[in-house]
Amino acid sequence: QGSTILQVRVATVGEEYILILADDHTEIARTEEVRNDFVANVSHELKTPVGAISLLSEALDDAAGDEEAVRRFAARMSKESARLTSLVQDIIELSRLQSTDMVDRAREVDLNQLVAEAVEANRLPAENRKTTVVVGGSVDGAVYGDAKMLTTAFRNLIDNAIRYSPEGSRVGIGLRSRDGMAQVSVTDQGPGINPEDQERIFERFYRIDSARSRHTGGTGLGLSIVKHVVSNHGGEVNLWSQPGQGSTFTVRLPEMESAEPSAEKQQQSD
Ligand code: ADP
Repeated sequence: QGSTILQVRVATVGEEYILILADDHTEIARTEEVRNDFVANVSHELKTPVGAISLLSEALDDAAGDEEAVRRFAARMSKESARLTSLVQDIIELSRLQSTDMVDRAREVDLNQLVAEAVEANRLPAENRKTTVVVGGSVDGAVYGDAKMLTTAFRNLIDNAIRYSPEGSRVGIGLRSRDGMAQVSVTDQGPGINPEDQERIFERFYRIDSARSRHTGGTGLGLSIVKHVVSNHGGEVNLWSQPGQGSTFTVRLPEMESAEPSAEKQQQSD
């Protein structure tokens, strides 16, 4: 039925070892499993705000006449619908990224400028948390890619660095070129990430502290979007972190050959 998973068992009969391999549908089965997990997670994540909105609308109905209560319920409804909106946006973004390895609207991208724009886009949240974002260094060459996707990825990393750090802290962004790769690192003074969580935080919907992440407005999809964007561009994202010592996320993207006679620049069309 396509749902069998590869089983490898080693049985011992007397002195002999028998290796039993079952099923050749491994790849299909795994894809199916991943898809089922995704659908289950999406349903679960959507049910929470939808359920809250539904309850709140009933409460709102009952509260008619009590102006203070009406205002309170309405404010919570608006918060839940904002959450629903960002969830739906992230889910759409992620499915788009997963459905293709190709980078749409690819063109020559100046990462120095793009990162500066991603910082600017996070200016308000940074101000709200009294966080200073400092950018240092620069990359030499351009990268070939989708500016919109790359902006989303860097915005997510900077947004996390601000959200998971204590108020009044500092986020450092470093740019440099090395071995033909453009390297952008985002360092925060947040709580850091345990070694056992470091691989898993790139998984869809994985959150270390789901209550806190929800409270801070997280969807659990930000880093998996980052990972997909970066790998769709032939790059990689790495994490260095130690509990209590903050985290550094480093993105590496291949730089374009600078010797190339100016690649045709396409006008960006949104
Ligand atoms: P979310 O929307 O919950 O922030 P992400 O995919 O962006 O989802 O991140 C997954 C989880 O990884 C977060 O819930 C948080 O627990 C952890 N995390 C991400 N970035 C940081 C960071 N800079 N410092 C500490 N923890 C982080």
